[in-house]
Amino acid sequence: MSAENEIVPPPGAAHRFAVVGMGATGVGVFVALVRSLVAGGRAAGAEVHIFETKERLGAGVAYSTPHDCHLLNMRASTMSVHPDDPDHFVRWLSAHPGAGPAVESEYVPRRLFAEYLQEFFEEALVEARQCGIKVRTHKSVVSDCREDARGVHLIAGLDHFVFGRVFLCLGDLPSTAYLEFTKLPTYVHSMWQGAGLETIAPDATVGILGTSLTAVDALLQLRGAGHRGAITCFSRRRALPKVQGPSVRYTLRHVTEENLGRLTDGFTRQLEFAEVAELFRRELEDGLGLAIDWKRVLARPAETFTHTLARDVERAERGQTLWYSILDATSEIVPLVWRTMSAGARASFMTEHLSIWSMFRHCMPLDNARRLLGMATDGAFTVASELSAVSYDEEDAVFQVSAGGTTHRVRWLVNATGTGFALDCSDSSLIQNMLMRGDITPHPLGGIDVDFDSLRVLRRDGSHSARAHYIGPLTRGVHFYTNSFETNLANAHSAVAAALN
Ligand SMILES: Cc1cc2nc3c(=O)[nH]c(=O)nc-3n(C[C@H](O)[C@H](O)[C@H](O)COP(=O)(O)OP(=O)(O)OC[C@H]3O[C@@H](n4cnc5c(N)ncnc54)[C@H](O)[C@@H]3O)c2cc1C
Repeated sequence: MSAENEIVPPPGAAHRFAVVGMGATGVGVFVALVRSLVAGGRAAGAEVHIFETKERLGAGVAYSTPHDCHLLNMRASTMSVHPDDPDHFVRWLSAHPGAGPAVESEYVPRRLFAEYLQEFFEEALVEARQCGIKVRTHKSVVSDCREDARGVHLIAGLDHFVFGRVFLCLGDLPSTAYLEFTKLPTYVHSMWQGAGLETIAPDATVGILGTSLTAVDALLQLRGAGHRGAITCFSRRRALPKVQGPSVRYTLRHVTEENLGRLTDGFTRQLEFAEVAELFRRELEDGLGLAIDWKRVLARPAETFTHTLARDVERAERGQTLWYSILDATSEIVPLVWRTMSAGARASFMTEHLSIWSMFRHCMPLDNARRLLGMATDGAFTVASELSAVSYDEEDAVFQVSAGGTTHRVRWLVNATGTGFALDCSDSSLIQNMLMRGDITPHPLGGIDVDFDSLRVLRRDGSHSARAHYIGPLTRGVHFYTNSFETNLANAHSAVAAALN
């Protein structure tokens, strides 16, 4: 065993655990921890401390939205809190009196998932207490986390705690694009924090930066609120996400662990981008039973966005979306694929191909796509691509957005470009303090660098922390598919297993 793995149990702290952040990932960690302590006969006398700033435990950022138009972008069958019981959430929905007609749909409002998570969390809380685990909840911000021979020290408000293990589940960082506008009253930096879209006057012109799922959420929320002013979505490269049709069970033939092992000579060498692309090409062409015209798929469509959307909706209605089921089937293997890729291959994917991957992989549920098509045909919004510059005209109090050679002037601007990954831009003092001391290291592709299996954080000196784990969207550079609950839940289980071994 290497020196970095040698854990000297700190007196009194070895049986004390902390979970910082109680969004979906924090719930996954907490439940895995309670179950593992109970199963391992280590429950009696153990302590679990939960730190969360929000009143509501278990909802986090993504699922706190009260709006029914904000749907889960994953089928209910992929959102189970029990990795070995995929129908658990679907059964919960059927038995849940508040779910209403949502149970009929595979894509339910995100607020229902928050209720489900909370119930699951509360069940685990009861089980913990019955089995002798002391659980304490602190409604406070953790501002520092430092490790020494005594354990991991957390500072929360004026309190100082020492733990044997700490699981940091801090969630996404807000976008780091367009920070220069954050002081302007007609700019919405994040839809999920503060007043969001609620203060936008119904007749105001609105510009939405981005065309991904967050932009779709913004459009549908504005429509639901009776917005009448013109709305324009601006994109740099890609148009709206594709549309998901009915789910088909698909078994992978090419993107398999066996093939990855063979190509990498038993995982002893790393793959270049072209080798991985070839595996996916074969999977898709073989699965669909046709040769794909990749030039056409990857090219910017010549037709209008409404035309493309109408065609995508029609294909989804006819069930001609097997390509999505094939991509969906890669969820579990994708972190391993990512792990086998060379640093250059990953970087090239992030800069050159992420936007097209996201357009197909993170696509719209059909219900929302139909609503959006209704809005587009009514002329309620339009899409402008080749976004090149955004500025603010103080005299007229309007934003000027240059896209495709035209300058658009809009009263309100909404940032829907997604979440940020630049740690140095984060306003979290916890992240800043750990970063400054070198207790965490930025991953070259953004976010936090961790050990793939145990999720122990990587220090600046190249060693992994013995007792601090980071789980959640910020480990994207290591695990890639961390913007899904499925991956974060799997990682929560891996981190707990590593901690209790
Ligand atoms: C709008 C949106 C929609 C999404 N939809 C889906 C979907 O449909 N399906 C899917 O699989 N994935 C979806 N995702 C991805 C989603 O991010 C993950 O699935 C998962 O929910 C992330 O949860 P989390 O707990 O890691 O982060 P969060 O939900 O962000 O929770 C982190 C928590 O940590 C707390 N916290 C942070 N810092 C501190 C601190 N210093 N001290 C104390 N507490 C702190 C925060 O208050 C917060 O509650 C979506 C993401 C977004 C942004």
